[in-house]
Amino acid sequence: MGREQAIWATPAEHLRRARPDHPVIYACPAALQSSARRFVAGFPGLVSYAVKANPDAGALANLAAAGIGAFDVASPAEMALVRRVVPGAVLHYNNPVRSPDEIAAGLHHGVLSWSVDSHSELDKLAAFLPAGAEVAVRFKLPVRGAAYDFGAKFGATEDQAVGLLRHVAVLGLGPAMTFHPGTQCIDPAAWGSYITAAAGIVRAAAVPIARLNVGGGFPSHRCGDAPRLEPIFDAIAAATRRAFGADAPRLVCEPGRAMVSEGYSLAARVKAIRDGAHVFLNDGIYGALAEAPVMGNIDRIRVLDPAGAPRKGPPVPRAVFGPTCDSLDRLPGTLPLPADMAEGDYLLIHGLGAYSAATATRFNGYGALERVTVLAPED
Ligand SMILES: *Cc1c(COP(=O)(O)O)cnc(C)c1O
Repeated sequence: MGREQAIWATPAEHLRRARPDHPVIYACPAALQSSARRFVAGFPGLVSYAVKANPDAGALANLAAAGIGAFDVASPAEMALVRRVVPGAVLHYNNPVRSPDEIAAGLHHGVLSWSVDSHSELDKLAAFLPAGAEVAVRFKLPVRGAAYDFGAKFGATEDQAVGLLRHVAVLGLGPAMTFHPGTQCIDPAAWGSYITAAAGIVRAAAVPIARLNVGGGFPSHRCGDAPRLEPIFDAIAAATRRAFGADAPRLVCEPGRAMVSEGYSLAARVKAIRDGAHVFLNDGIYGALAEAPVMGNIDRIRVLDPAGAPRKGPPVPRAVFGPTCDSLDRLPGTLPLPADMAEGDYLLIHGLGAYSAATATRFNGYGALERVTVLAPED
């Protein structure tokens, strides 16, 4: 079979045959579907996919095929995309700040749930919504457990949330609540703190809620051992029973990162090893590795020679740079890479499906990613 082949067995097989001189993102439908099934089987409520983590149409189609019927969208373009790929999807619009035109787009696309974190945005939204439409009050707590603080931008304080929840009820809308514990949150107790606080807000407002959306933030496998999601699901179920008792709302979650990260691997080629020391790749922080400066490096890396065979030399710490002429375009710290690595080799980075292709730019003429489908993401 030639290079036109649509599906390859593994990234190594494609690299060996195609020898691409541009970065390649490998999508694995089986891995995407297995992540989706894990959430559907384990999460004690409705699972909605946060589209911004990876809006690839193939990702949406595979998640839908594995039982995901709800999607968290944050913009009219994401709504149109989901409607095109998964026409019957349930849409939740949980970007709490919207222009009137964006609200109109949400109505046009049939959004079923909205969120707010301020009185001004609630009033703006209420002018458009039909009676009873679900509006979730988004609140925040001082951050813990996550890679960075989602509360820095969105979320009412607990006190403000009490007033907002009452205001939702007075307007004749459907009261609900939501939070986001922060992305790559590895502490199951973070969800418990939020759920306990949500129950306190509901009691203080004396406004019952039909649903509680516990956000995204579920961790992906970046370094060391894979984080376990099931203890987080169990902690969420237990905290909800404890905090709400018989009045427990139905639960919703909206994972982005943990849903798609295992479904994709990135191959970046070694352009040069400058004077035997500095490694220059053909992708970097303006491309699919945009998160590295904030989140740290992923250590799930294999180095393959141009024939697709793994390099096995002892690890040597190397400074790694991206291809652009910008001096920020460097991965943090050093990466342990095999001593026998050579120019023309490929770094194959696993677990890179979230906030990678979605945020890659074409800065300095780089960043064009080829998308290739594989049966297995690793060899
Ligand atoms: C980004 C986002 C998510 C997904 O977050 P992850 O950390 O990728 O799981 C979920 N909900 C909202 C409102 C978001 O903005």
